[in-house]
Amino acid sequence: MLVPPLCWSCGGVARRREPLCLDCRGLLRRLGSEPAVLSGVRAWAPVAYAGPARDLVGALKFRGATRVAEALAAQIAANAPEWMLEGSLVPVPLHPRRLRRRGYNQAGLIADALGRRTGLEVADCLRRAGSAATQVGRDRRERRLGPVGSIELRAAPPGRTVLVDDVATTGATLAACATALRAAGSIDVAALVFARTIGR
Ligand SMILES: [Zn+2]
Repeated sequence: MLVPPLCWSCGGVARRREPLCLDCRGLLRRLGSEPAVLSGVRAWAPVAYAGPARDLVGALKFRGATRVAEALAAQIAANAPEWMLEGSLVPVPLHPRRLRRRGYNQAGLIADALGRRTGLEVADCLRRAGSAATQVGRDRRERRLGPVGSIELRAAPPGRTVLVDDVATTGATLAACATALRAAGSIDVAALVFARTIGR
């Protein structure tokens, strides 16, 4: 029996290889070409973290829909300012405990897909230790006070690095990654994420 692909947001019929139906694609809130500066890191995202974008990230992270990473990477690759697609892609690391439970790092999947599309090297050179707390799903006060877990190098970083993640909220995790990379010799650090929270 042939089952048509379903939209990860509304459950309606989607086109083959598309994780969203046309209506939900139209609901994605597109952001401009200017990167935001989050906690001191220039971070660019194609869409706002809301509506269908949130559902896509949820599908990738919590429903095992690893193929959604391809679509998220495609959105980044097709719309990112050209100057940001230079350097090596460094996935934001997942806490080992989460990695064991989930079986994959969603940022790593996006970085791999983005690497295939852009020809950029992927340098999985960071790891996370300490608190397993995440940014998404925590309230504002927790995010401000809570630790993001310490970021450590597990390999020498490339000179110019582009951090890759699914979502950026305050940028605290990106900043922790950037600090570790710069301390180890990276001279230029920017970030590409699929979605970023707006208007909080
Ligand atoms: Zn839909």
